[in-house]
Order: sequence, then structure tokens, then C-alpha cells
Amino acid sequence: MRPTYAVTELLGDGIGAELSKAVHTLAEALPVHLDFSSVDLSLENRRRRGKAVYDEAVLAVTGHKVALKYPTVTAEESPNAILRRRLDLAVIHRPVYTIPGVTSHFRAALDIEIIRIATGGTYDDPGRAIGADSAVSLRIVERKPVLEAARYAFELGRKTGRRVTSASKYTVQRATDGLFEAITKEVALQYPDVPHNVELFDALLGKLVMTPDRFQVILTLNEYGDFLSDLACGLVGSLGIGASANLAFDSSSNVRVALFDAAHGTAPDIQGKNLANPTAIFLALSMLLVQVGEVATGQTLKETVLDLLRDGTRTKDLGGTESTDSFTQAVAAEVARRAPASTG
Ligand code: NAD
Repeated sequence: MRPTYAVTELLGDGIGAELSKAVHTLAEALPVHLDFSSVDLSLENRRRRGKAVYDEAVLAVTGHKVALKYPTVTAEESPNAILRRRLDLAVIHRPVYTIPGVTSHFRAALDIEIIRIATGGTYDDPGRAIGADSAVSLRIVERKPVLEAARYAFELGRKTGRRVTSASKYTVQRATDGLFEAITKEVALQYPDVPHNVELFDALLGKLVMTPDRFQVILTLNEYGDFLSDLACGLVGSLGIGASANLAFDSSSNVRVALFDAAHGTAPDIQGKNLANPTAIFLALSMLLVQVGEVATGQTLKETVLDLLRDGTRTKDLGGTESTDSFTQAVAAEVARRAPASTG
């Protein structure tokens, strides 16, 4: 009997259906059983059912604790923003690393974990006009999400033996970013075994490009994390291959809910053509496996995908000849070979 985990699948738009099919094919090859139950977050269903579809999604994700989300069209509303708010997702964990087989202008290897506070900063307040020629917005930093993100970053640093760098503009934004750094320092004191340093965010960007091997786990506020994620993905050559964990915590700072997704969108231009690259959703699935405790299986899946890419098994967007189906079959066959059903 394979160990079983209940997983909510949040179905989306565009290439989402093809990616879901690929995930199910791959799941069959894993040494664990993923018991998927799906919620239809497609635009059509959202328009038809309105708030009810989000109620259903929140109930399912909260019940199962882990979810895989496919890309959704942002039309009247952003499903990502709604889910983030309703599930109280406080932290976005985005690993960014050099992927063999993905062409990049950046020669050095990058391997960082970005821990971004998912709320606040300047993003929670759209601002308002003051007269015709000026506008203001509030910048919000709150203890709870900073504490949760910092604890998560330091736990990750401890588990993986890696340094935590906190980055902000604490010299200029003294109250807000100063609070962020003060809370981070409080947490750092509880992890004396985890090296910690503080960088000004602008300096960090320069140093990351010049000496990327100095950075490992980077903890930062919402908008900085947003900028940093895109920069880092650009450095490794693709905005489209990244995956993230979106995390909510309980009162003891344990992960209460984890929602995993691909960074790319719905790719309407290639929908239904068997061209979608499932790499990002497979990497999201590997993070989900680690989250449920299937660390070895999750790592095997990640390594399998990266090894196949390096050896030239690639979809068209990466210059290869594989279709969604053939790439999926190749990953599934190799995972089954490397992680037979008795492990996990
Ligand atoms: P996109 O990521 O969907 O597409 C950009 C380009 O990358 C396209 O040429 C597309 O074909 C290609 N691409 C993306 N993913 C790919 C994959 N897996 N395999 C092969 N090629 C891939 O970005 P966009 O066109 O700006 O956005 C389309 C829609 O997706 C919009 O409605 C946007 O709001 C939505 N979106 C959703 C999410 C999400 O739900 N997480 C994220 C980003 C964009």
C-alpha cells in the first residue's frame, strides 16, 4: 500500500487542464498515493458561481492542508489575491536556482530561497490622490507575518545548513523596515546556529548579481520579494519555470495550509496544443511532497526533472522537441525507476 495524502487541486484556465492531466500521469508513477479532489476555479465557473466557488476552495484547502493550484486568468478579480487573503497566506517561498538546459545571459550559478512576506508593504493600500498632482499610499509592516516569515526562514536555514540574509531599506524606511529588521533580529537570536546578516535591499541586488554564491536564504518584505523574484528568475533565464509555496501558519508558527503553484500564467497562445511545459507544476508538486513529509520522493522528483532537462529532454519553449505528454511520460518513467513504490 502506498502512503496516501489528500491534496486539493485548484483547476484554472488555459493550459491548466493539460498541466493537471500531466500531474495525474506523474502521480501514478510516484511511490505515494495522492488523493486529489478538485475545485473548479476556471473563469467560467467563477463568473457563474461567484463567491461560492471561493468558499468551496477555502474549505477544501483548509481541510486538506495542501493544495496544488493551476494558473487562472485575472479578469474581474485576481483569484491569487483572494485566496491569499482568505487563506491568510502570510509567506511566499520561491526557490530560484540555475536550471540546466535553460539558456541564460548570466554565467554564474544561482541557488537561493526567497522568503517573501505575502502581505503588507506598499501593496495593501492602492493609495489616494491628494489634489490633481500628488498621491499618497500607506506602507504597512505588521509583527505577525514578519515573525512567521522570519521563523520559517530560520527553520529553513537550520534544516538546510544555510545562511539567512534579511534585506530591506531600514536606513531610510526607519519605522517600517526598522520594525522588520528588529523582529528578524529577535528571531535570529533564537537560532544562534544559523548564520544571519543584514543587507540594504538595493545593495543586495548588486551583490547578488556580482557574487551570487554569497546568498542562500533571503528574507524580505512583500514588494522587495516581488522584485527580487523576477530578477532572480531572469538571471537563471526563465520567468516561466519557477514554482512557489504560499504558506499560512497556526498560532505556534507551524504551517497550517500550503498552496503550491507555478509562476507562469495560463499561456492562452498554446492552450490545447500539447506544447505546455509542465516543469514548473512538477517542481511545485515536488515542494508539496516535501511539505507532506515525503522529502526523499520530493527530492527525487526535482532531481529527475532537472537531470532530464540537462540531458536534453525538453519541451519546445526550451528549444527541445518534447510535447507535454512525452515530457511527462519521460519524467514519470524515470521517477518510477529511481523511486520504486517501497520507498517514501
Ligand atoms: P503567461 O505566463 O501565461 O505567458 C507568457 C508566455 O510564456 C506565453 O508565450 C506562453 O505561451 C509562455 N508560457 C507560459 N507558461 C508556459 C508553459 N508552462 N509552457 C510553455 N510556455 C509557457 O503570461 P501572460 O500571457 O502574461 O498571462 C496570461 C494569463 O495568465 C493572464 O490572464 C494572467 O492574468 C494570468 N496569470 C496567472 C498567473 C497565476 O494564476 N499564477 C500568473 C501569471 C499570469
